Amino acid sequence: MPPEHWADLDPDQRVQRVVDLGLPRFRAKQLSTHYFTHHSSDPASMTDLPANSHEWVSALLPPLLTEVRRLETDRGDTIKFLWRLHDGALVESVLMRYVGRVTLCISSQAGCGMNCPFCATGQAGLTRNLSSAEIVDQVVRANQVVARGELGGKRRDDHSADRVSNIVFMGMGEPLANYKRVVHAVRTMIAAPPDGLGMSARGITVSTVGLVPAITKLAAEDLPVTFALSLHAPDDELRDELIPVNSRWKVDEALDAARGYFDTTGRRVSIEYALIKDMNDHAWRADLLARKLNARGRGWVHVNPIPLNPTPGSIWTASDKAVQDEFVRRLNAAGVPTTLRDTRGKEIDGACGQLAATDED
Ligand code: SAH
Repeated sequence: MPPEHWADLDPDQRVQRVVDLGLPRFRAKQLSTHYFTHHSSDPASMTDLPANSHEWVSALLPPLLTEVRRLETDRGDTIKFLWRLHDGALVESVLMRYVGRVTLCISSQAGCGMNCPFCATGQAGLTRNLSSAEIVDQVVRANQVVARGELGGKRRDDHSADRVSNIVFMGMGEPLANYKRVVHAVRTMIAAPPDGLGMSARGITVSTVGLVPAITKLAAEDLPVTFALSLHAPDDELRDELIPVNSRWKVDEALDAARGYFDTTGRRVSIEYALIKDMNDHAWRADLLARKLNARGRGWVHVNPIPLNPTPGSIWTASDKAVQDEFVRRLNAAGVPTTLRDTRGKEIDGACGQLAATDED
């Protein structure tokens, strides 16, 4: 694991660390303000600390992410970052500006062990879990980039988006397979300043292949994050193939757990569905999905189909536009709110399922 970092600790542990170093307790608050409010890890910029503080500041805020490469779209409103971790492992995050919000797609693991055949990340397997701080630092680093004006596409009248407002755990990794560190990272993101980033839990989406016991546990955390289930097929025969963990937790169990998340938190859940040509895009599958969702009640769920982003070496492609539209129409007609999700960053291999983190291309 990486060196322990300030963002791995709870607020009381942080105070303990500075006390252990023989420093006054209020140094903890100062350091938190620098890191979580001003997004700085650089002792030279911390002019309210004594000149001899460099050493302990650097020890408590060790560098975690080294920027290896940055790819931008033409308009510069989408940036994909490739980060190297202390041990050489690589992860990516994707920063996207929309009107009124800035969304960061973050990684929770280096690689992924879920082995979904349509996802680029799944092909290389799991390298390791990220620490809480490695997860949080992706947000802090993105905030620095936004603050420096390096993310394009900002409208002159848009004052709401000078930092990351929304997080999606849709980068590399299965967040619920790194449960403890992900939950701690979320708590740090939503903790009020200076103890955390002061983000809204509703703006944070945790997306999972459907690890059922972890979904139930997450629901009980009292963290009103948005929950998304990557379903991709309403029937076990096909889902066994698309999401290998379906051999362990079946479609109906995953849907029951998703409904349970709504019951416990009151938060409407999302169902993700990558539309793959002639694979899972049939009208009867839309109807079966609607039946299974409606069987569990109304108003608790919406469906977000997304056209498949083709990945290298895959024989699968996105559904035709007319087929996508019909899939969406059938769900809506059955009373299940459904909107086609837009896809960003395809040109820079930064769209969903394309994050593969190679240092070569
Ligand atoms: N492991 C988590 C989160 C990471 S993937 C999960 O599976 O939910 C985020 C989303 O991108 C998931 O819904 C995933 O199924 C989807 N995805 C993966 N590969 C994709 C691809 N090639 N095209 C479109 N979506 C993809």
